Amino acid sequence: MGNEKKKIPFALQIFLGLCLGILAGLLLMGHVDVAKTYIQPFGTLFLNLLKFVVVPIVLFSIMDGVISMQDLRKVGSIGVKTIVYYTCTTAFAVFIGLLLANLFKDSFVRLSTEGLEYSAQQSPSFLETLVGMFPSNVVAPMSDANMLQVIVMALFFGFGAIIAGEKSKAFAAFVSSANEVSMQVMNIIIKVSPIGVFALITPVVAENGPGILGSLALVLVVAYIAYLLHMALVYSATVSSLAKVSPLKFFSGMLPAMMMGFSSASSVGSLPLNLECVEKLGAKKEVASFVLPLGATINMDGTAIYQGVCAIFIATCYNVDLSLSQQLTIILTATLASIGTAGVPGAGLVMLTMVLTSVGLPIEGIALVTGIDRIFDMGRTTVNITGDAACALVVSKMEERREAKKRQQA
Ligand code: ASP
Repeated sequence: MGNEKKKIPFALQIFLGLCLGILAGLLLMGHVDVAKTYIQPFGTLFLNLLKFVVVPIVLFSIMDGVISMQDLRKVGSIGVKTIVYYTCTTAFAVFIGLLLANLFKDSFVRLSTEGLEYSAQQSPSFLETLVGMFPSNVVAPMSDANMLQVIVMALFFGFGAIIAGEKSKAFAAFVSSANEVSMQVMNIIIKVSPIGVFALITPVVAENGPGILGSLALVLVVAYIAYLLHMALVYSATVSSLAKVSPLKFFSGMLPAMMMGFSSASSVGSLPLNLECVEKLGAKKEVASFVLPLGATINMDGTAIYQGVCAIFIATCYNVDLSLSQQLTIILTATLASIGTAGVPGAGLVMLTMVLTSVGLPIEGIALVTGIDRIFDMGRTTVNITGDAACALVVSKMEERREAKKRQQA
């Protein structure tokens, strides 16, 4: 996979896996149990392998990235740029979602809300999320695959190594070597992605089929238009103006990771492939290995769009007209909620409760969209990971320019 010649066939292989998976799903529509019994386990196996490799990848790649910067100020500079990019694009994403949902809301089918039940899993408050980011021991974050905690741990050890200077040489060499080994493990797993993608998508199509869309078809279409619009506007504009990469090159280079995001509905599971794609697009390794794992955990533009669209749809079903200030509240809470959303399938649905509560909508409304959440999720995850990649390219090129300027001044 490492060499250029194999690049196009591999992207094509994943695409074929996706198409064949959809086809097999359609053929198996009357036989969901066959898809679930014989095909789904391979998808689960593949997703498990990705989740298994993701903790060492995130831990070692962030530590290695930080240590190789050798300068706490540089880490700070990249960190600030990343957070600013992530927050601004996410707020804009909710805005696009709200705008489109408002335009179409009169045509939404108003589903009955009578007798709706949804046993809400409590979404954590902002402070709870903050406290939860900091691990109380070094083992639990890894065994629980709590990515925010793994990131915090990696940052602390990276900072410690920089401060320790000469004395951390052996540690730095170990981290760098462990990072390389983890990447090779990841490469082995990525090689079977086309089969993994096939096995993940087939049961989803077989189970849901086109029928399930029914009265929710328009809500889905609105969400997908918003997803596409956000990617076409925001990512095209930022990668071309700030990273000097043409949108065409960006999106074609990102295709394998995007297809992985679409079929797995997991940002964390797509991280290995995403790392590979952005590095091929020209992002610096030290930046990508810091920005992408962070993004897979906190940057969720697609989730934010989905939360905006669903909030308007649920309000419409309850005959509630949300005021401008309520919609501004949604922008704020959906941005925060998407930060707190884990990069795993279905996480955004749970966090939708936080958005609904903030504007006084009943959380039972979630039951209206639960049935087709996976279909929303495939699109929103694709947007989520593409946003991470755009940020990695932008920050990487900005850093390159900053360093070139510094060299000129010196
Ligand atoms: N599945 C999404 C992701 O992994 C999160 C969500 O459910 O919105 O990015």
